[in-house]
Order: sequence, then structure tokens, then C-alpha cells
Amino acid sequence: MSQLVAIVGLGPGGLATALRLLGQGCEVEIFEAADRVGGRMRGLQDGAYHFDTGPTILQMPQLYEDLFASAGLNRADYIEFQRVDPYTRLRFWDDTWLDLTTDRDALKQQIGEWRSDLPEAFDQWVKRLERMYELGYEPYLSQPARSLLGYARLDEIPAFLSFKPWESLYQHFWKAFGDDRLVYALSYPAKYLGMHPTLSASVFSLIPYLELAYGVWHPKGGFRALAQALGRAIEDKGGKIHLNSPVRQVLLKGDKAVGIELEDGRQIAADAVVVNADFAQAVQSIVPESHRGKYTKAFFDKKQFSCSTFMLHLGLDKQYDVPHHQIYLSEHVRRKDKPFVDDSALDETDPPFYVCYPGATETSAAPAGHSTLYVLVPIPHTGHGVNWSEQQQSYRDFVVQQLALLGFEDLEQHIVTESLHTADTWQDDYFVHLGAVFNLSHTWLQMGPMRPPIRSEKVESLYWVGGAVHPGSGLMTILEAAKNTAKFVAADLTGC
Ligand SMILES: Cc1cc2nc3c(=O)[nH]c(=O)nc-3n(C[C@H](O)[C@H](O)[C@H](O)COP(=O)(O)OP(=O)(O)OC[C@H]3O[C@@H](n4cnc5c(N)ncnc54)[C@H](O)[C@@H]3O)c2cc1C
Repeated sequence: MSQLVAIVGLGPGGLATALRLLGQGCEVEIFEAADRVGGRMRGLQDGAYHFDTGPTILQMPQLYEDLFASAGLNRADYIEFQRVDPYTRLRFWDDTWLDLTTDRDALKQQIGEWRSDLPEAFDQWVKRLERMYELGYEPYLSQPARSLLGYARLDEIPAFLSFKPWESLYQHFWKAFGDDRLVYALSYPAKYLGMHPTLSASVFSLIPYLELAYGVWHPKGGFRALAQALGRAIEDKGGKIHLNSPVRQVLLKGDKAVGIELEDGRQIAADAVVVNADFAQAVQSIVPESHRGKYTKAFFDKKQFSCSTFMLHLGLDKQYDVPHHQIYLSEHVRRKDKPFVDDSALDETDPPFYVCYPGATETSAAPAGHSTLYVLVPIPHTGHGVNWSEQQQSYRDFVVQQLALLGFEDLEQHIVTESLHTADTWQDDYFVHLGAVFNLSHTWLQMGPMRPPIRSEKVESLYWVGGAVHPGSGLMTILEAAKNTAKFVAADLTGC
């Protein structure tokens, strides 16, 4: 007889785990607090305009083929992927520009104009990353984290050392290129890590490599359409999705999870419970206090969390001739003093920012002749005390003005609709601890066995999936985590 797994939350991690569990023959019921599936990528509608709210960059499309195939489905039957190439246009602090592209000759030609030895340095870096990918992706990023001792195996030391764990992402790229523009071009777009390259682990140099190797993609209809597509696939495989169904607590019998209780008091018995809700937020709210183990407020107060993001979603009555993805890397990204490195203060003079103009690839998000714009500025998480109710209007005005730097001239007069997210929105409406949207920071001390485990240490039959567990925040890594969560559930339950 198949066994019932209850899933709390339907962000990317919950969607992927549900589909895999259904493929394994489990019965699955999912309880999502919001009125739509997708979590941070659920999207929003403002009048006649449709927006993505979280991810805009899809890497390694093969992970999605594999995910749908795990349930016996074909990804292309549910969602179309479109390649975006050149995939990011960067404007630097010194008014130089670079188009990142998978066409390596075109890329090398651009950087060769900066310094004649850079194309050769780039080829060397690619060779090194090809090897790091071989050595590291499958055994480390794709597999569950082991215990610290589990990594201390003599035969694995050479592979481990090839990642130079003593280096930051910044040091990794500086040693390879010695040119700050290229260093930040390749390290900063790893923005879903939400931290400065001088603080994040060098292993994430794999991300820009994977973009070069496999390209950057856009799901047709946006990431909200990807979320909906996964939701449809789950229902096609017999999974039951309950929207507007916030979970109040995980039900325990002794030390074992036996179901969940909804905010409205209904109780649902289950053989296993998988929680996709934000780890720091959920462990302190829906897990009974007696079974939280070390995960107390004091524990999280000592941890480093990522920045948050200020978001503008603008519906425009015109179209611009600009690329899909652009980043403005201001002089401030190079500063290595505290508020700039750890995003502990709001940058009100020259912040870096990212814009997504999906109209460059498809026009379905807005009426004919109109377009939409998604703007993301890294900002402090709520622990740093910015008063957004006082500041959001002036910051919005400042950001709209800055957008001219990336080709959005006369923007103000073309805005038809607008909505904004601050760190408070992420915390209050998306249930994200501190509004730190990229989760626990990705420092070496908060990676692998130092991230929360997939299998709860204190509660039998309770599992976690999402950006907090190994290997970390970002769709690609969360899809890997989901594979492991589904494997653990299958290993522990019979008949699923
Ligand atoms: C602005 C932004 C830009 C990003 N850009 C990229 C990108 O380009 N590429 C990329 O790969 N990644 C990107 N990311 C990261 C990626 O979106 C996140 O890592 C990912 O969405 C986190 O997914 P998750 O599975 O942890 O769950 P979440 O998305 O956090 O979903 C958790 C779900 O649980 C629900 N929930 C919470 N509490 C309860 C409860 N008590 N009961 C029921 N349900 C509950 C929530 O409503 C939510 O739907 C971006 C993120 C943001 C915010």
C-alpha cells in the first residue's frame, strides 16, 4: 500500500520533491499558505501586466528534464524553454560594458580589448573549471552532505583541495584574471547566493562556468509559468495540492512526525512530513518547541544570513530595445568595507542593481506595444533595521532615476502600474526569516554538514527541502536537494 507524504509549502523545493515522490509511488498531499504555487517564484499580476517575483535565470535545463522524467513525464509537454544569449549585459563602474555569452570567441574578443592576455587566461580558467565540475558537481553538490568526518577521506583529499576551500569567490577570480571587471562579471551575477564575492565560497565559481557551458534559459511565460507547469504535473500524477492552507504545526507521536495541523484546526495524518517552508522561520514556528533541538533563536542570531532585495515591478506603456538580463555594477561593488560587503546598510548613492526585461524574449506578459520591467536591488535584511514604511517611496524614486544607466530613459512617464517589495514584504508575505531571500549565507562555515540536514535530527519521518539545506539557495541547487529529500523518504518508508 502506498504511503502518504504531507508536504508543507510549494516553492521550487516542494514542487520538485512532490513530483519525485509521486514518481516513486508515494501518495502526496501538499499544503501551501499562499493562493498560488511557486513560493518566491509564484509571480504576480498587476492589471494587465504579469511579473516574475523571484528567479529569472534558469541554468542547467537538463535538471528539469530529469525531474519530469523521474515521474515518467516529458518536460516539453509542460513548459517550453527559450535560450537567452548573450545572456547578461553588464555595465561597469568605469562606463565599460561586457556581454556575457556562451559564444566563447565573442566573449574573448571583448575581454581581449581590455587586456591582451585575458583571452588566454580565460581559456585556462575554463579548463580548470571543467576539471572542478568533473570532480565536484556529482560527488559533492549533487549528493547529500556528509558529516564533517565523512569528508576526511584520504582518497578524496585531492578533489577537495582542488576547490581551494581557503579561497573566497573573489580570490578565485582575482588569481585567474587580475582584472576587477572580469572578477565581478563572473562572481557578482551569482546573485542568488545573495552575498559579496569576498565572503562567498570559491566553489560557487561553478555557477558562471555552468552558465557558459549550458547556457541561460527562460521558461516561456516566465518562472511563474514554470511553477504552474510543475503544479500541473503533480496533479496529473495524482498529487493533491491545497492552496490557502497554512500549516500551524507538525504533529508528533513521541519523536515521530505523524501528520500536520492546519491553521483552521484540521489534522491530516501522514507517514512522513516534508517541510519546504523557509527553514529558519518554520523550525521556530511549526515544529513543537520540545523538538527543535539546537535550532533556537539564539542559534539563528549567531548565523549569517544573505541580503534581502528591493524589487520594483513596473508595467510600461512602451517597449525598450534592451537585452533580457542586465546588471549595473557600480563602484560600490568593489568596496571591501563593512556596510558594502555585508549589506548591513542601505546604499542610497550608487548601489549595484539587476534588471530583467522579459519583453526582449517574449511579449506575453503585457498588452501589445507595452512591456514589463523587474528591478532588483540588494538591500539589508530586516535584522539591520531599515524603516521601509518611511523610506520606500524615496528609495523607489531614486531607483527609477538610476534605471537610465541601463537604457531606460524617460521611464517615469511610461509607468502605468507599479508594485514594490522590500525586506519586510519578503518576511511578512513570503514567510522568509529576516526577509533574507537567499537564505543562510554560503560561507564555507555554513556549507555542507554545517547547513541544516535534510533528515531531521530530532524528529523521525520529518524532512526538509529548500534553500537552507545543502547545497544551498538557487533553483539548480534546490533541485539537487529535492532529489536527495525524495531518496531519503523512499529509503525510510516502505511502499514508496
Ligand atoms: C528576488 C529573487 C531572485 C532570485 N533569482 C534567482 C535566479 O535568477 N535563479 C535561481 O536559480 N534562483 C534565484 N532565486 C532563488 C530562488 O528563487 C530561491 O532559492 C527559491 O525560490 C527558494 O525556494 P524554496 O524551495 O526554498 O522555497 P520558497 O520559494 O521559499 O517557498 C516556500 C513556500 O512555503 C510556503 N509556506 C511557508 N510557511 C508555510 C506554512 N506554515 N504552511 C504552508 N505553507 C507555508 C510559502 O508560502 C512558500 O510558498 C531568487 C530569489 C529571489 C527572492
